[in-house]
Amino acid sequence: MPKLNKAEICMTTYRPPEITDPALVESGRPVMDVGPYARVIFGWGAVRELGRLVKDIGAARPAVICTPDRAVDAERVMAQLTEAPLLLAEAVMHSPVAVSEMAAGKATRHGVDLLISIGGGSSIGLGKALTKRLGLPHITLPTTYAGSEVTPILGQTNGGEKLTERDDRLRPSVIIYDPDLGLSLPARLAAASGMNALAHAVEALTTSRDENIQWAARRSITAFADALPKIVSDPADPAPRANALYAAWLAGYCLAEAPMALHHKLCHALGGAYDMPHAETHAALLPHSFAYNAPACPDAVRDLTEIFAGDPVNALFSLVKDLGLSMRLSELGLPQDGIDRVARLACANPYANPRAFDVPAIAGLLRRGWGGERPLLET
Ligand code: NAD
Repeated sequence: MPKLNKAEICMTTYRPPEITDPALVESGRPVMDVGPYARVIFGWGAVRELGRLVKDIGAARPAVICTPDRAVDAERVMAQLTEAPLLLAEAVMHSPVAVSEMAAGKATRHGVDLLISIGGGSSIGLGKALTKRLGLPHITLPTTYAGSEVTPILGQTNGGEKLTERDDRLRPSVIIYDPDLGLSLPARLAAASGMNALAHAVEALTTSRDENIQWAARRSITAFADALPKIVSDPADPAPRANALYAAWLAGYCLAEAPMALHHKLCHALGGAYDMPHAETHAALLPHSFAYNAPACPDAVRDLTEIFAGDPVNALFSLVKDLGLSMRLSELGLPQDGIDRVARLACANPYANPRAFDVPAIAGLLRRGWGGERPLLET
């Protein structure tokens, strides 16, 4: 029998467990899952497992990582620790190299032996950037739905360019999903980061026919399509928050295991060139990038038509609109004269995409997204 490498084993034999109603996972009895890369603990009150896990790892000097505005979350984490942690409240979007270098210096001077990140993709990104530089284990407590916690991917910006690398050593080794930690996430941020994750699942449907990935993508999109409008209409309702967090786990798995294509390349080009808000950019662009690839992805179109009970391009466009998110790349920081530059950046290096593309085609797609126009569905 041919020898499979670790990634192939994951692709063919592992998928996150089905949790039929994440909102009902009982307090104090979270779901435990030992995947091929990370131990995952999911459920209300899961944060209480942290102290025991830190002891198991035998860490004496952890660093707690968060964004500057969320020291309050870091304090909830620190309350679970007996060890005196170093607080690194300096994570920022797109993981700029200079920020990571500075944080790595501080962690080294303090003799840090474990990284604990709490927050969204920015905090998790700094955790990964420090793992890369210092080789330390990483426990993460995600509070948005971006899905970075599951992936071996690190995107860092340097000099106006966002460069992405994949390395299994970048994966956090423990993920603690406690929906309670994300209840404070404002509805608009929740909606945007949910659309970011939904884009992982949608793009996975267009690039992979692996049955585990297909299952996770469909399950994730179904859960997000239900949960996100509910979060926006009643931000205090805990049930859709739990469902969205479960959907994020599945979407992160899709991002980790399926090839990403045009949509993600374009978002990275936009983020690197114009420092555009990551999640909102994904949301505004997704209906356009999906419409572009749709003629080459009949199976994905069929799956999404079933999930949304109607035309998927219109459904994605309406979902972004109904969530109150920006539909215009112009409002998110893309200047009109940047359209051709981004189209060239996205076409600079070859990569697989379901449908062939070139600079004029991508510029056309971006122009419609720039003006917030309805996507053009070519047949
Ligand atoms: P983020 O981490 O920047 O968070 C957005 C905002 O929400 C921040 O101001 C943060 O402080 C705030 N916030 C987070 N949790 C909160 C809470 N509980 N209550 C109140 N406010 C809270 O945003 P994001 O969309 O999660 O992550 C974006 C970053 O993640 C980008 O840099 C992107 O490149 C990266 N990302 C990486 C991957 C990957 O696999 N490598 C995947 C997705 C995103």
